[in-house]
Amino acid sequence: MIERLKQQAIEIGTPASIEEALELNERYSTDELREAADAIRQKWCGDAIHTCSIVNARSGRCSEDCKWCAQSGRHNTGVKEYDYISEEDMMMAFHTNRKRGVSCFSMVTSGRKVMPGHMVSFCRLFKKASDEGGVKLCASMGLLDREQLQQLWDAGVRKYHCNLETSRNYFPTLCSTHTIDDKLRTIAIAREIGFKVCCGGIIGMGEMMQDRLELAEMAREAGASSIPINILQPIKGTPIENIERITEEEVTRSVALMRFVAPKCTLHFAGGRAQLSREAMEKILRGGMNGALVGDMLTTIGNKVDEDYAMFDEIGYTC
Ligand code: SF4
Repeated sequence: MIERLKQQAIEIGTPASIEEALELNERYSTDELREAADAIRQKWCGDAIHTCSIVNARSGRCSEDCKWCAQSGRHNTGVKEYDYISEEDMMMAFHTNRKRGVSCFSMVTSGRKVMPGHMVSFCRLFKKASDEGGVKLCASMGLLDREQLQQLWDAGVRKYHCNLETSRNYFPTLCSTHTIDDKLRTIAIAREIGFKVCCGGIIGMGEMMQDRLELAEMAREAGASSIPINILQPIKGTPIENIERITEEEVTRSVALMRFVAPKCTLHFAGGRAQLSREAMEKILRGGMNGALVGDMLTTIGNKVDEDYAMFDEIGYTC
């Protein structure tokens, strides 16, 4: 079975169904899944690692109640709070990451959506970065409407990030203030305007393997070119601070199976990978994953960039 699904993914990019991927999970070892996923990744994504970097342009004070998030104003996490990054900090982050050679640089804001007054300022910063060029620009600014997305496009942003977070079924247990459909609406408008879209989620929030696979399927069907995968690092003060941590083995299997479900997408490590051992990271990068967020994450400590690039090189990726 694994050989048939691997071949159909490699030859014509046919994704595995959720049922097929769950059967793979039942029947095959982690190494068998990884090896097949690596072959599918090589066919569709090649050996160039995808790297992106983010800067937190607005932090904390969010009206929403996402149970995993340090930035919700409803949780007591002690996260740093500010409404608007300074031009100096933003451009310094942009120049640093451009010099490092990241593929994509993103400004990320907390909140359901950007406040109208702030949009003009964020767009001015994007325009400045876009005029300097050298890196693809991405924005992650919540549930924007058409007018706001168009403003970003006009400022030179070409990728929009909006995480789906988890499966449609599991999402309401983690967030009650917005829905998966709200997210899909924003993603659809972004695609209509011309943005590439990046939408993934978080694993390790108490969900089942089926939820992770459904997340990958939903992102693929929404037209995502990349699917960032965060590994939950439970944050003190959030409602799921004591949730049992997902094991490295489970992360490895999940990524390999997500590659079967989304054969052509970039799958990239986002937050939380710093908690993995070096051995696990290498296995996952040779087991379906082909990208990584480098530098500091939003509210958790990232991996050191130079060490990351050395690791990608050793694994056999071109940087
Ligand atoms: S994930 Fe986004 S919308 Fe949800 S609480 Fe955090 S910042 Fe707000």
